[in-house]
Amino acid sequence: MASSFTSLGDLAGYLPLAENELAWGAHEQGKSSLQFRLPRYYFDLIDRQAGDGDPIRRQCVPTVSEHRMLPEESGDPLAEERYALMPGLIRRYKSIAVFLATDGCAMYCRHCFRRRFAGQERGFTGSKRLEQAAGLLARMPEIKELLISGGDPLTLNDEQLGDLLGTFRRRRPDLVIRVGSRIPAVLPDRVTEELSALLGEFAGSRAVYVMTQFNHPREITGKSRLAVHRLIRAGVPVYNQSVLLRGINNDLEVLETLFNELTGIGVKPYYLFQGDLAAGTAHFRTTIEECLTLGEHLAGRLSGLAMPVCAVDLPGGGGKIPLSRSHLVGQEGNQYFFENQEGEIVCYPDTAADNC
Ligand SMILES: *Cc1c(COP(=O)(O)O)cnc(C)c1O
Ligand code: SF4
Repeated sequence: MASSFTSLGDLAGYLPLAENELAWGAHEQGKSSLQFRLPRYYFDLIDRQAGDGDPIRRQCVPTVSEHRMLPEESGDPLAEERYALMPGLIRRYKSIAVFLATDGCAMYCRHCFRRRFAGQERGFTGSKRLEQAAGLLARMPEIKELLISGGDPLTLNDEQLGDLLGTFRRRRPDLVIRVGSRIPAVLPDRVTEELSALLGEFAGSRAVYVMTQFNHPREITGKSRLAVHRLIRAGVPVYNQSVLLRGINNDLEVLETLFNELTGIGVKPYYLFQGDLAAGTAHFRTTIEECLTLGEHLAGRLSGLAMPVCAVDLPGGGGKIPLSRSHLVGQEGNQYFFENQEGEIVCYPDTAADNC
């Protein structure tokens, strides 16, 4: 973490930056947007010859496009604040709660949908809130799973993580825990034997899963493979949630390779998400039509094990639904209407086609 690049000025000494990248920091909104952090490990994955279109570089080096906000976008695209049981504890579905353990990440992904929360340098949420959240869950036995998210919870130190998992486990020994982390893809050295053993200890009594985010086959390296193997050896299954990103992985061959390679290292591809309508991410979003078509073609090429569920999180807290033509109940121009789990018809305004 300490050797990461934290300013574009630093980075410019190692990588000639393009005008649209330099313009991000110079922009008047520069201070209010998602901060910049790039670990040396991930920096080394950049193909310097490929210029500013390189799929690794685009995920980590900000551009001025992030300051362009569209009216249909939002700082809180999934309306997580509306579903908060208390600050930092979200419950959108009957049986699952999400706990935001920290706002810190090893790398700030330029497509992040929780960009309004991530990177504010508040750090660990602290034991008071933790106790409060665990106390609430103790009184809500209908909640069966806890997603520990952020930020990236694996940026916490081992002691904090032990506290976090221990507090929830003490109050709710039956709770299945998922830890959402991009660290196996962006800072795999963090997945030490000690960390794996710690997670494995909690997985001994009731399952602990790690949900990671690999978006491109070039993120699968010897080090990320080792990180995954350590987790699996400790008894922690690893699942992957990719984001479909224009100009990065919206390509049949790239996705096919990604999901086959993940399956090959023991990581089950779980979701492929259409980009959320997060403010300042229009340049990454594909059209609904493209996501639907890629999903159909992938299903024809991949095994059931290697095939993720293509899904969209409907704006305004409409919820997650599988993105398939059978869930599409109507279309008027670029307005797509889907039926969610609750039977409500929710509109997804697909303006990506106009913004390409
Ligand atoms: C995605 C999500 C979940 C988990 O959904 P699964 O389909 O079970 O992976 C739970 N809560 C919220 C708020 C979510 O966004
Ligand atoms: S690690 Fe997750 S929360 Fe952090 S910036 Fe990346 S996508 Fe956002």
